[in-house]
Amino acid sequence: KLDPKHEQPMGTWTSEEIRDAVDEHVMLTWAPGKARHNVPIITHGEGVYVFDDKGKKYLDWTSQAVCSNIGYTVPDNVVEGTVRQMKELPFIYGGLGITEVRARLASLVSDILPGDLTGMVFPSSGSEANEAAIMCARRYTGKFKVINWYRSYHGGTTNSQQATGDFRRWFGGDNVPGFVKAFAPYPLFWDYAGDNEAERTQMALNMLEEQILNEGPDTIALIQFESVIRGGGVIMPPPGYMQGVRAICDKYDILMHCDEVMVGFGRTGKLFGFQNYEGVIPDIVTAAKGITSAILPLSMMACRKHIMDGFEDKPLGWGSTYQAHPVAMACAYENLKYMIKEDILGHVQELEPVFEDCMRTLTESHPSIKQYRHVGMFGCFDAHLPNGENPQLQHTAVHEAFVKYRMAYTENGLIGLLRAPHLHVAPPLTITKDELLDGFDRQDRALYALDEGLGY
Ligand code: PMP
Repeated sequence: KLDPKHEQPMGTWTSEEIRDAVDEHVMLTWAPGKARHNVPIITHGEGVYVFDDKGKKYLDWTSQAVCSNIGYTVPDNVVEGTVRQMKELPFIYGGLGITEVRARLASLVSDILPGDLTGMVFPSSGSEANEAAIMCARRYTGKFKVINWYRSYHGGTTNSQQATGDFRRWFGGDNVPGFVKAFAPYPLFWDYAGDNEAERTQMALNMLEEQILNEGPDTIALIQFESVIRGGGVIMPPPGYMQGVRAICDKYDILMHCDEVMVGFGRTGKLFGFQNYEGVIPDIVTAAKGITSAILPLSMMACRKHIMDGFEDKPLGWGSTYQAHPVAMACAYENLKYMIKEDILGHVQELEPVFEDCMRTLTESHPSIKQYRHVGMFGCFDAHLPNGENPQLQHTAVHEAFVKYRMAYTENGLIGLLRAPHLHVAPPLTITKDELLDGFDRQDRALYALDEGLGY
């Protein structure tokens, strides 16, 4: 029998009722459980803003996890297309029935991807898309090892977590074989790695090739990396590096995979992040987040035609119940149509100089900011740390400075991810110029707390 509290219409529980249920039942995942007491109760969203239960309005400064790319007012065509699919056919298992929406989405995504990236799988999350990519590469090449960069994140499922290079891999333990980590060129070390950019690029490529030769080229199926590294702080490799990786992959029959989960569908001012590297076409591309602007969970893995053809007589060997979910695909299809028709990409390109201007001004006016990087509507400030102290270390003055900055950030009405010493900026791609300027004003005010906390 249904408890009467569940008979109440959605939107009528008090904050206390919500908190009580959260305290008792809700577990967080990447954060310690007790952090749930401090996460705000978000009631609704509008445009690029979300509102909490006390009526406070927050400007979304990182599009949540860089995914709410069109904000919170869902366009009519997306609502109608998604609801229509829910009414017509809410679900059919992907191996038992083909739907028109699957055919349409596959052809639309293939149309907007360059080259012959024509084979499409539609899982539900970025992690799953990367699982599919790893399986696809292994079964297509008959080889097993995967090379990833240390500064990377690829997901929370077994293989995608092991593919991840940063600390989030440690939770998974060390007993998943086949993942080799490499160093991507990293600005912090560029000064030590050659006298000029061309030399640094060549040196980084030589190191990668040396690593491949030592691992054994015949054992490596895939080089898998983020087209623009986010976790490490919006890092793009020096000119020529990606073209060099493409050439190394061709030389040793290794597939090249760009993980576009975070930057795919417009974040960098190009439809796909790898399009920032002229002439580079990967063999496999995965994306998620922006494909539906996070309105429903859906991801994709695209592969080149010859790879798709390689599975005519054998299965890919990876799947999930919800892959090719019709309702999620309808949402993605309408979302992409909306983005194309409204020229969201053009909008990002138009705002990019304003975005950069604001990042430069804040860097110049706050001693706590050392430098910034940006591409499209994806930016990152690096904090200027006294003595290079690590802000991840708890109970230090530097850590406390970031706690205070976080409080000021919230007080000034910003909501977003913070990954000290990197401060990311990635608002919804639909943000207006005035809203963007307002966001940087809010961040400007919050940064005084960081200046003070770091002792400047
Ligand atoms: N790859 C990248 C580059 C990501 O940023 C993420 C998520 N932040 C993932 C993979 C995993 O995607 P998901 O959380 O949807 O599984």
